[in-house]
Amino acid sequence: MANPFELRGKRVLVVGLARTGMAAALFCAARDANVTATDARTGNEIGEAIAPLRTAGVSLELGGHRENLFLEQDLIIPSPGVPADAPLLQAARASGVTIWSEVELADRFLDGRLIGITGSNGKTTTTSLIEHILKNAGFSTILAGNIGTPLISRVEQTTDNTITVVELSSFQLELIETFRPNISVFLNLTPDHLDRHHTLEAYGRAKKRIFENQTEADSAVLNADDAATTPLAPAKPHVYWFSRKQRVAQGAFVRENEIVFRHNDEEETVLKLREIPLAGAHNVENVLAAVAAVRLAGADPAAIAKGVRSFAGVEHRLEFVAEIGRVRYYNDSKATNVDATLKALDAFPGRILIVLGGKDKNSDYTVLQKPLREKAILALLIGAAAEKIEKQITGSVAIERAGVIERAVQIASHAARPGDVVLLAPACASFDQFQDYEHRGRVFKELVHQLEKQAASTTSGRG
Ligand code: ADP
Repeated sequence: MANPFELRGKRVLVVGLARTGMAAALFCAARDANVTATDARTGNEIGEAIAPLRTAGVSLELGGHRENLFLEQDLIIPSPGVPADAPLLQAARASGVTIWSEVELADRFLDGRLIGITGSNGKTTTTSLIEHILKNAGFSTILAGNIGTPLISRVEQTTDNTITVVELSSFQLELIETFRPNISVFLNLTPDHLDRHHTLEAYGRAKKRIFENQTEADSAVLNADDAATTPLAPAKPHVYWFSRKQRVAQGAFVRENEIVFRHNDEEETVLKLREIPLAGAHNVENVLAAVAAVRLAGADPAAIAKGVRSFAGVEHRLEFVAEIGRVRYYNDSKATNVDATLKALDAFPGRILIVLGGKDKNSDYTVLQKPLREKAILALLIGAAAEKIEKQITGSVAIERAGVIERAVQIASHAARPGDVVLLAPACASFDQFQDYEHRGRVFKELVHQLEKQAASTTSGRG
């Protein structure tokens, strides 16, 4: 709690009433701030969820907002979904109003140590893995942030002994001031969210703020194999690297199929690569990053190895769904950008039938051509981006315009031969046809399970 903040009597505006906004508004109200919450949706559209705000005495301005409301505040907390350069926020900023993301506010009420994880891909997997290892090693942990539980809703449970493990998005980091992780992890930087950040440079700038307030007492863990990340290495905290390809001066790397941690010229073997229960080279990177972070947090190598071995993975991330007639189905609905799709294609030896498409995020799909040519036998296109993707990958693989996921799964199940892999790794956001990527993943899994049942009844019918 380096920079405590007095909320009592402050005028606080919370913008956007999804999970984070709700938690932030309730937190500030419980500390006697004068809280107003606003959302573009009407009360009817938001529904029951706002009842606790009314009970807590939060003023509501729903179905839109007056500009003056933004100018008459001491503090504004926009939800991660609100662009930091929204005109109303710019006007407030210009007139001297403080604008913080919810994690900035939360950090001021946090006790114990903080591990923050950011990057374009692998945040949720690595955050979950770090927390899993530490918890199993006997540490008192809290898992929060962009992963689903707003940090602000957990800070009251932290004590001096807690290690809070927080997933951080670029949107949360964009609006920090003194937020300071004891250990920061920067996994990789590839194009994503360019619809919001406009350029890769601006996106990288937001993410690298994770290091901004770290001191000589802190550590930063970065990816030595990612040319976009290495130049971002900070000056103040101790820098530790992770690498699949080379030995590093300090940090975690792969040597002869083993993960090694190196610190002050001493090397310790942590575990064998084949003990990692997750598919794909990208997951080796996630494990390396986690090994470095938890070793720095004080877990010993044996406990780390045990934690990695017992990690079950996270739903919708290259998740195995079923094997039907020797065809394996994988749900990687969280592959909402091109890089994640590249990693998914890389995780299998070949003969992949891939479901691609959804809501475009201004992405370049041409980079998929080479791996599609080498690894895929059919691309099934769905959603709004289908036409753009078809244009950009044409010639590299056979294409079917399936339109919707139901038809994609159906076509794939007929076209697949024993030994093939049917992979949902769409390289796009989901909002054109689904509530979110979780919804898309669940629908896919349900369709696959239906196929499984049909296959079982056909088999038993014959038998
Ligand atoms: P994030 O929280 O950053 O979105 P996830 O762990 O949820 O990361 O994974 C998102 C997608 O990226 C999934 O499709 C997953 O298979 C893929 N992925 C996971 N780790 C990495 C990595 N280190 N590099 C590239 N892609 C990854």
